[in-house]
Amino acid sequence: MTTERHTAIHEAAHAICAHMMGYEVVNVSLEPQNERWAGVAVTKFPDATPIVDELVVLLAGATATGLILGDVDASGGDVRDASDLLIADAAPVTEAKRKLDQAGRLARELVTRHRTAILRLAAELEAKRTIEGAPLSRLLTSLEGETQ
Ligand SMILES: [Zn+2]
Repeated sequence: MTTERHTAIHEAAHAICAHMMGYEVVNVSLEPQNERWAGVAVTKFPDATPIVDELVVLLAGATATGLILGDVDASGGDVRDASDLLIADAAPVTEAKRKLDQAGRLARELVTRHRTAILRLAAELEAKRTIEGAPLSRLLTSLEGETQ
């Protein structure tokens, strides 16, 4: 079951991790969809972005719900996107696995370090449903000092 809070934490984690790694987050949103909740966190990745960085941001959502709520979500879209990235990267399997492991470790580190910021953004998201543009960059910048 994806509750509103679960989805808010998932999307907030994508956004916070992308921001803390120096990428521009353009939009974070949350909306009810039938009996469940759906959300997006849109990040701009320049062409030369290392694949591991993109993997970290993709893994951050499920990593956060796992670490914070003890409830790892299915996040099928993220898994599919991660697979697509690795396939496009066309590295040997052992190399792909190494990158995925490294990204998983970094995602856990970032989520742990920025847990308070993720919870703040998630609460804001539940209140506002969509945060974007200048208000989003101001909020993300204000959360930079919020380490747990
Ligand atoms: Zn996600």
